[in-house]
Amino acid sequence: MTENNIRIVVSGPRGKMGREAVHMITRTDHFQLVGAIDHKYDGKLLSDLEEFPDVDVPIFTDSDLCFSSTKPDVLVDFTNPEAGMRLAASALNNGIRPVIGTSGFTEESVHHFQKIAEEKRIGMIIAPNFAIGAVLLMKFSQMAARYFPDVEIIEQHHDKKLDAPSGTAIKTAEMIRTVRGEKQQGHPSEKELLTGARGAELSGMRIHSVRLPGLIAHQQVIFGGEGELLSLRHDSMNRSSFMTGVRLAVETVMTLDTLVYGLENILE
Ligand code: NAP
Repeated sequence: MTENNIRIVVSGPRGKMGREAVHMITRTDHFQLVGAIDHKYDGKLLSDLEEFPDVDVPIFTDSDLCFSSTKPDVLVDFTNPEAGMRLAASALNNGIRPVIGTSGFTEESVHHFQKIAEEKRIGMIIAPNFAIGAVLLMKFSQMAARYFPDVEIIEQHHDKKLDAPSGTAIKTAEMIRTVRGEKQQGHPSEKELLTGARGAELSGMRIHSVRLPGLIAHQQVIFGGEGELLSLRHDSMNRSSFMTGVRLAVETVMTLDTLVYGLENILE
């Protein structure tokens, strides 16, 4: 199978991310959307739904039937952890490469799928963050931390976000920790006059979470050194910011025979 004309099924096509994925796939010359998996609208076409007037591909509620009828190369999943895990297992069983954007896959489930993918020699990608800029920000931060061990992370999100700090901020701090190790920052005798003033702490690094309407997803990593500051920043303006990463993952998964976790591991 070459990169030309990769046949793709999307699960969760009516969702915020699934909808973007459908549009990205139909606009990409070497991709072909051949089906969709939903838990509603079995037997209908995507073009029967208001969101996709021009997309004439069938909707299935039964994933095995979808895979045997449409013969895709890749499943792109943006649903929820329970459906995502079930659909990933079904895809691997049918010899189809899963690209999983759904977040909330546990470490245990990632190991489970890694074992199956290796046994079957089928590529699979699970990426909790498909924004290439966010992934590069993490990598550049890891690179900078070798020279600047004093670092504070400020992440900013819309006020509908339930978790704080963001998964990306935690992952950034964890990646920095691999080169920086433990280091307490600030004055050794500093005191918070208001609880939380210095933010959350991971190995001595401070992480600050801002929540406001009007924000989408933003992160700044500030490094301090002798007489200099280095700031790295990424801003996601809308959900299309994730689609370059999804496109890259679909292309890359065709070349893999095991599971890769995290987009950073497929970027050069
Ligand atoms: P969403 O708008 O709620 O979309 C989820 C879609 O999945 C809905 O249309 C839902 O249908 C459908 N669904 C539920 N159960 C299903 C099943 N069994 N089979 C097929 N479809 C099913 O959520 P979203 O914002 O698109 O996010 C989806 C996932 O992607 C979440 O886990 C989110 O955290 C993750 N995400 C990942 C990234 C990344 O970069 N990797 C970025 C943003 C979000 P109903 O509405 O009818 O239930």
